Amino acid sequence: MAVLPIVITGDPVLHTPARAVGAVDDRVRTLVADMVETMHAAPGVGLAAPQVGVPLRLFVWHWEEDPGIVHAGVAVDPELWVTPTTIGPADDETESEGCLSLPGERFPLRRAEGAMLRARGLDGEPFEIEAHGWLARIFQHEFDHLDGVLYADRLEHAHAKAAAKAVKREGWGRPGASWLPGIDRLEG
Ligand code: ZN
Repeated sequence: MAVLPIVITGDPVLHTPARAVGAVDDRVRTLVADMVETMHAAPGVGLAAPQVGVPLRLFVWHWEEDPGIVHAGVAVDPELWVTPTTIGPADDETESEGCLSLPGERFPLRRAEGAMLRARGLDGEPFEIEAHGWLARIFQHEFDHLDGVLYADRLEHAHAKAAAKAVKREGWGRPGASWLPGIDRLEG
């Protein structure tokens, strides 16, 4: 297993829809093992294959809701359904999210409260998870990555401007930029 470099916003792999995985073979299993290690090293609660430069439709997640209550898994070729999103500005405190491909930044974003994930696991078996709250948010965030969408693309105008400013300040927004968890910086 290996910690992989995480691609930063601006690289085409993050802004292009990913391809279906299809059959789960050893290459896919190795990729997932490396992605899990990379997600823990970052650390983050989710990671999609395009974020490690691989344009495939799969993501991993690991989120400890409360001590001892851990939501974790891998979704291969997922589908996602979400509940209608309520209208109104996103709350700074309760609706701020971050992304390992915009390291160090957080912005509030309104998401659907509920989501239904349907995908296959590494054993190739289909599964469904009905998620609410933060887990539903993780699924929406990671699923977006597979369609070439970053949460920065969905921000309200003022926050989108702040995000664009951060991208400029950090010299991101160009192909080829990445960071290596555990080496380059510790990311929250
Ligand atoms: Zn992300």
